[in-house]
Amino acid sequence: MSRATSATIHLGALRDNLARLRTRAAGARVMAVVKADGYGHGLERVARALADADAFGVACIADGQRLRAIGVRQRIVVLSGLDESADIAEMHRLDLESAIHHAAQIDWLAADRDPRPLRVWLKLDSGMHRLGFAAHEARAAYQRLRSLPNVDPAIGLMTHFANSDVFDDAQTATQIDVFEATFAGIEGERALSNSAAVLGWERARGDWVRPGGLVYGISVVEGRTAADFGFRPAMTFASKLVAINRVARGEAIGYAATWRCPEDMDVGVVQVGYGDGYPRSAQAGTPVLVGGVRVPLIGRVSMDLVCVDLRSAPQARIGDRVVLWGEGLPVEEIADHAGTIGYELTCGMTRRVRFLEDET
Ligand SMILES: *Cc1c(COP(=O)(O)O)cnc(C)c1O
Repeated sequence: MSRATSATIHLGALRDNLARLRTRAAGARVMAVVKADGYGHGLERVARALADADAFGVACIADGQRLRAIGVRQRIVVLSGLDESADIAEMHRLDLESAIHHAAQIDWLAADRDPRPLRVWLKLDSGMHRLGFAAHEARAAYQRLRSLPNVDPAIGLMTHFANSDVFDDAQTATQIDVFEATFAGIEGERALSNSAAVLGWERARGDWVRPGGLVYGISVVEGRTAADFGFRPAMTFASKLVAINRVARGEAIGYAATWRCPEDMDVGVVQVGYGDGYPRSAQAGTPVLVGGVRVPLIGRVSMDLVCVDLRSAPQARIGDRVVLWGEGLPVEEIADHAGTIGYELTCGMTRRVRFLEDET
């Protein structure tokens, strides 16, 4: 038999989350962000489920190619845009749109001989200092793009927030101010909001929102799960119990003997490990659902297996289904115990995990 680890992707949850985003976005169009293989959920699967999305945001041309190959007709925006001049031809061939965040990209467009107009989104660095034109360069960059015959004159305007998951954050307020001031008087569709901003920054709504995490039912808002905002987890990561062992008081569990039994007790062994994408950094006490009952992880996570304390689940039997995250156990909670965010966990599923789909 192959391993029991599976990731079930709930297509209904993806659709419900998109509908909820639409309501939250109150008229703004929704560009569903599907980078990193749809946050680990499977790019094609997610795009098929999100037939109602107004556009998709991807990280690279190859993702756009995969979407076109399955017949996706919506607009597709490559969020970091052209990486080299040869990408212009690829974007035309695949009907992709490019973020433009750097003068080098405008130079490539200026030197290109293809007369067809490319659709672009000018990206402002409003304060995150990752990608984008500085505020004092952005209007000149806009004018330069407008002057190029091979750039569609309907230029989108975008920026990205560093800290929008903090709903009273001063930097986000400043980033919105910088965006508004920089592009004052310039026409063009505006796109500012990631998932957290859709929840907490109404002022940033613009013409388009660009949520990723909430599409999958994952929040990065401190102390709040996406479920707290009415979203549903789109992935359930599950496996099964493969052993139950009676271990004596004082004995240590697992590599490096990091956890000792306080009494004679039943220890469950679950067929999942960091070789599947379960984080090795998950600490003892991380919750796991065994047959629907919450039990704590004990000892180190190993490559193929983890151990759990079964004292609160005396009914547990070998073969019981174990949920690592998803329905009934928010991935955000597991991420907290592992010192990361839910996005990193769903992105980190490895190839030996079996992906399944259901309509829920
Ligand atoms: C990843 C990303 C998003 C989506 O962010 P979430 O927090 O997942 O909603 C939006 N815009 C850009 C430019 C991104 O890189």
